[in-house]
Amino acid sequence: MTQPVFNKERHIKYYLRCLKTFLPAAYTSGDSNRMLLAFFTISGLDILGVLESKTTPEDRRGYIDWIYHCQVPSGGFRGFTGTDFGADKRTPGNEAWDPANVPSTFFALVLLIILGDDLSRVKRKQCLEWLPRLQRGDGSFGEVLGPGGKVEGSRDLRFCCCAAGTRYILRGRKGGGLEGVGDIDVDKLVEFIKACQTYDGGMSEAPFCESHAGLTYCAVGALTFLRRLSDDPNTVALLSPGSKEFEGLLRWLVSRQTAELGDEEESDDEDDDSAVSDQRLERAAKSLTLAEMIDQLPDLSIPSEESLLWAGFNGRCNKDADTCYSLWNTGTLVMMDRLSLIDAGRNRHYLLDKTQHIIGGFGKGIGEPPDLLHSFAGLASLAFQGEEGLSSVDPALCASHRAVQHMETLPWWQGA
Ligand SMILES: [Zn+2]
Repeated sequence: MTQPVFNKERHIKYYLRCLKTFLPAAYTSGDSNRMLLAFFTISGLDILGVLESKTTPEDRRGYIDWIYHCQVPSGGFRGFTGTDFGADKRTPGNEAWDPANVPSTFFALVLLIILGDDLSRVKRKQCLEWLPRLQRGDGSFGEVLGPGGKVEGSRDLRFCCCAAGTRYILRGRKGGGLEGVGDIDVDKLVEFIKACQTYDGGMSEAPFCESHAGLTYCAVGALTFLRRLSDDPNTVALLSPGSKEFEGLLRWLVSRQTAELGDEEESDDEDDDSAVSDQRLERAAKSLTLAEMIDQLPDLSIPSEESLLWAGFNGRCNKDADTCYSLWNTGTLVMMDRLSLIDAGRNRHYLLDKTQHIIGGFGKGIGEPPDLLHSFAGLASLAFQGEEGLSSVDPALCASHRAVQHMETLPWWQGA
């Protein structure tokens, strides 16, 4: 079997097309999430190592100005400019209709860092005062503040991760210059995250839900951000090797690697197959004993050496591989310092042979067109595995280590 080829030039072309021309119509519904689309595009080009060579200083200044244009006067960032009705028309009575948004704020800050900005125009104190207002009594975070300051948005780990990331970026190493500015309730946030670990070791969106790799990434990401600013890094069992929480989570994560790729041929006959097996089950249920029914179950096909060559990751038990789960699972394992437990070579084969697209970018699965989320996920997962030609990537910020170093050398971040 020949080694798969990472087609770097095609990926650069794909990202530049996304950056410089209109996105396809399928993105229309994502208009209010432009900050996220911008993050995938700019961070993708940075991971490819061409952000500075393929864009001009004027381009980058323009992107930075657009991001600041999304900052709301009371702190935090909106996801796009569509809700902005102008600073002079904004009142305490109508500001809930143009709210800052927790994920957009996090992605805006990471984008500014990637673009080399010093965050001097960020309303740092206002943003850090807004953040605790989004935390609920159970420790979780919402997405936006609605009318009357009501916390809106689901109670899930994505917002917890983005809130912890925002706090990490804006507080800096020692919280210098923030005297009198309140903080989120870190202990309660940790309690909420711990309560999201399920019986099988994985993390779910909220307590008593199903384990999910994307939300597991968010849980470990949030804890990683908190640990980076903590004086006592070993207090959380989920991040402490040897604890039952850590080992259970690890077992669940490595079990997500799968050779079930959901080929197109299989999904085409799925409907017919399931109709036939439904009828068969119905007949069987009427006349057969349980033991007889079990005997009639079809044999599982035995995997061949060939079929095991490609092994991506799924996000939940019994699901097919999907490119984005290569990011969520490998990124989490990097944060836990356990990436060596998966078969990186088979993940690479899956990404490069099966979902890398001929026009550049990555699709969600086999035969799917590339999109910004899955393209970014494919690149980042390969970067975690040390793919030649890609920058090394911080697994929590999903930004290059070059960008993270830039942030860490800012005087205010160091506590000066
Ligand atoms: Zn996906």
